[in-house]
Amino acid sequence: MPRRPVVKKEYTLGERVYLVEIAKGLRLTWKHFVFNIKASFQKGPHTVPTCWQYPEDRREIAPIFRGAHMLQLNDKGQELCVGCGMCARACPAKCITVKRGKPAEGEEDKYAGKTMCSTFEIDMLRCIFCGNCEKACPKNAIVLGQDYELAEYEPGLCIYDKKRLISNFLKAKAEGRLKPPPAPIPIDAPPVKKKAAVKKTEPGKTKAKGGERAEKGKGTSVKEEDKGPDK
Ligand code: SF4
Ligand code: SF4
Repeated sequence: MPRRPVVKKEYTLGERVYLVEIAKGLRLTWKHFVFNIKASFQKGPHTVPTCWQYPEDRREIAPIFRGAHMLQLNDKGQELCVGCGMCARACPAKCITVKRGKPAEGEEDKYAGKTMCSTFEIDMLRCIFCGNCEKACPKNAIVLGQDYELAEYEPGLCIYDKKRLISNFLKAKAEGRLKPPPAPIPIDAPPVKKKAAVKKTEPGKTKAKGGERAEKGKGTSVKEEDKGPDK
């Protein structure tokens, strides 16, 4: 491929002095500075359109956002988790540990006749926030909430136990940030069996076939009868 010839640019006197170019740059800087000062006095959740004043200004989180996990309670304050382990099996990062067990002391009456988990832990350092655990849970017990500030000073604090997961739920409930329950999955009507359809839709045909067979049968009997006297 032929190379393009290098064309040497001829600078004007103003460009060679640089003063005009410096003035142009300063004009642009001052323009943004004045714009931001004006915008900072405006009312609103975020005052400067190009910049969110975090942590004072917080963006609205989408309902489908997958943040820190929580273990939900029902209206009676009972844990929904039954310790089935479906979430742990569905987790691709293998970061959930569930052990089924008996209720804690003093809570036997509360959970009488119900199964529950004695240990529930999530290693948040390994979690990839895929949401598989939420989808796999048959009781809608584990849910990924909207908390995203998950940094800790100690790695051990990143392992969420049952107490912390329930406290996440209580906090979200108090702040009105609970996810709505998932919509029920529509179930299609079972396909109509072909044989049944034929019987229902074309009864005449089947009858006709039956009639034909009967007639055939009659025919043979007549023939047999006919054969009889010949002998
Ligand atoms: S969000 Fe995904 S990776 Fe995290 S605990 Fe649930 S299933 Fe495991
Ligand atoms: S959170 Fe749901 S899937 Fe996981 S053990 Fe509890 S009931 Fe089972």
